[in-house]
Amino acid sequence: MTELKSRNPYTGELLETYATATDAEIERAIAGADARFRAGGAGVIDERARGLARLADALDRNHEELARLAVAEMGKTLKAARAEVEKCAATARWFAERLPELARDESVGANSGAASSGARFVRRLPLGPVLAVMPWNFPFWQAFRAAIPALAAGNTMLLKHASNVSGCALRIERAFLEAGFPPGVFKTVLLESSRVARLIADPRIRGVTLTGSEAAGRSVAETAGRHLKKCVLELGGSDPFLVLPSADLAAAAASAVTARTLNNGQSCIAAKRFIVHADVFEAFTRAFVDGMSAVRPGDPMREDAALGPLVHAEAVDALQEQCARAVRAGAEARLAPEVDEAKCLFSPAVLIAPENAAEPVFSEELFGPVAVVHRARSLEHGLRLCNESRYGLGSSVWTKDAAEAGRAVDGIDAGMTFVNAIVASEAALPFGGVKDSGYGRELGALGFAEFTNAKAVAFGAAGVAGG
Ligand code: NAP
Repeated sequence: MTELKSRNPYTGELLETYATATDAEIERAIAGADARFRAGGAGVIDERARGLARLADALDRNHEELARLAVAEMGKTLKAARAEVEKCAATARWFAERLPELARDESVGANSGAASSGARFVRRLPLGPVLAVMPWNFPFWQAFRAAIPALAAGNTMLLKHASNVSGCALRIERAFLEAGFPPGVFKTVLLESSRVARLIADPRIRGVTLTGSEAAGRSVAETAGRHLKKCVLELGGSDPFLVLPSADLAAAAASAVTARTLNNGQSCIAAKRFIVHADVFEAFTRAFVDGMSAVRPGDPMREDAALGPLVHAEAVDALQEQCARAVRAGAEARLAPEVDEAKCLFSPAVLIAPENAAEPVFSEELFGPVAVVHRARSLEHGLRLCNESRYGLGSSVWTKDAAEAGRAVDGIDAGMTFVNAIVASEAALPFGGVKDSGYGRELGALGFAEFTNAKAVAFGAAGVAGG
């Protein structure tokens, strides 16, 4: 047994030390999730929908407490934390309202040579206990984003959260209990990542969903593969933000600042590579640098905080090292970062990439408010630069030309393309990536379906009594 520590990144204060679960506690958690699933989980569709509506109310009721906990444990701004909790509640409500429709049998027409001549349909049945391995950067949203659709579908869930947000992890479990979900439907297990593999291997665990880094994704996918477990991976990204000559430059530059600084620059779908057509390169970059330099980091608990700290000192060091490597490889620091190591503060920075930038740092994930701007000679060149990354999560294109927007939608190899808007997750839209950003989808109807057994049901001619 080891300890997990929650530390405020801005003040350095040790908030709490948590003991990790013993082997016996892990066994009880798995057995509890399995037993609850066999006993009907959170109930039939109507009961699950009512549970999710009560979850939304519980989150709304405790909104401020939850938001302040997230700020303390990982340093996002209070405003961002409040918005995160609101989004969790709104998503619970969306799934509560849509559940009857999402869970409806899908009728399949007859085809020649069919063995059955009666009713034919696909029914979505739950799989069983699902393990969720989640990151710290949106400590509530990531966990609820995985849990709400999976529980709506009738599964039960165990959560292994990131080791620096154990307070949020335990609070999430409590929110489900406050909403009246039976114990065992959702349980948090405080655990080191080295013990995740044995949970995946347990025959009672029917699937695993991981949101996190590429390295963690590879490790979880290997174990899931070995044990033939359904797996969803939501991994990192280096999202392109493509600016074309017809774009509304003021709107694009203002949105670029938001996209690169939201969540203190620590979001998988933050735009990270700004690919700007040569005709508008200087005008866009000037406005972007002005906007970035106006965002000053400080105490995330202040009502007016625009940018909080990075999550810990190691993250500050890693980002500084990436900036230095980019500059050594020929990048121009148009806006250089200022760093306050003691408070983990990292001010926004803008690096201009050299032509034909080959150094890997130019397409790596920079997890903090550092933007890399690339110059594109044409739309085709811009699209090529967008795809010069091993990631493929989100993408955003800025143009007033419908044909150009269409080219970008079809041509960018990513799970999401937003036109004249920054990439965002929302209840109704499927969320996920391609390439090294992972596979599978969360949210929307596709997210609901991920941890279900799409059972084909077909009736023969004889019919059944009462059916
Ligand atoms: P991380 O280090 O990969 O951690 C994520 C989770 O995986 C944590 O619970 C962590 O536990 C666990 N973990 C780490 N290594 C593991 C392993 N080998 N086996 C099993 N579990 C393991 O990522 P992070 O630093 O928390 O989050 C940042 C990353 O997540 C970024 O790359 C970001 O882009 C990505 N992300 C992606 C999405 C998306 O939807 N695509 C959303 C948010 C974040 P410990 O904390 O105990 O190590």
